Amino acid sequence: MIRLRDIEKSFSGNPVLRKISLDVRPGAVTALIGPSGSGKSTLLRCLNLLETSDAGQLEFDDVTLRFVKGQALDKAKVLAVRRMTGMVFQNFQLFPHRTAVANVMEGLIVVQKWPTDKARARALALLEKVGLADKAEAWPLTLSGGQQQRVAIARALAASPKLLLCDEPTSALDPELAAEVVDVLAALAREGTTMLIATHDLRLANRMAQHVAFLQDGVVVEEGTPADVFGAPKDGRTIRFVRTLG
Ligand code: ATP
Ligand code: MG
Repeated sequence: MIRLRDIEKSFSGNPVLRKISLDVRPGAVTALIGPSGSGKSTLLRCLNLLETSDAGQLEFDDVTLRFVKGQALDKAKVLAVRRMTGMVFQNFQLFPHRTAVANVMEGLIVVQKWPTDKARARALALLEKVGLADKAEAWPLTLSGGQQQRVAIARALAASPKLLLCDEPTSALDPELAAEVVDVLAALAREGTTMLIATHDLRLANRMAQHVAFLQDGVVVEEGTPADVFGAPKDGRTIRFVRTLG
């Protein structure tokens, strides 16, 4: 189980996350929705420790981190949490001067110290899984956005993370290319990949998620099944948001 409890984060004195508590269920997809600036990306970054929360607690299976501003974290625990997460970004963030397969291998070689042959075999298998077996030697900029994002998904999965974080995985893509990416994510979800997806796309959330949390101004305003949150929202802020986008 992955649990966030009372997570707080400010930037230059401006609170962005205000006592956020959220459970991410293993084997399920959780969607994080909410207006621009509500803190979705910050929450994902606090979960994989790209950012350090100011207060609160993160439980990631048997690793528990308590955040106290100004207090250093246990390095071994930080490393453990980072290794248990993979992240997919809106703008792919592939290394432009490395081929698709080299992008997927990179973390296995540099971080996990795998031998090249083994890393390459794993990377090729992952590229096949995302439908890009024939693009292994392609340079990122020769690929479509949807193909680049699928390479990025393969890269995020390389070290077998327990949690795949996706930050607006489809919002830089035209609908047709976004659909390719959604198909890959949906296949991963069917296999039981635990995912937390921040998205503006209510259709994506509705199709994929078992659990939806609506964030506004750094607070989880409402959460529940997609039927609850989209079909019968209770909070006025959720109602307005769903109406605007739906
Ligand atoms: P979007 O839907 O546009 O991606 P979001 O919900 O992901 O928005 P965040 O990117 O988490 O929102 O940003 C929340 C708030 O925190 C915004 O006001 C943003 O300006 C601020 N913020 C985020 N990162 C930083 C940072 N590194 N330094 C200062 N302010 C930041
Ligand atoms: Mg964001």
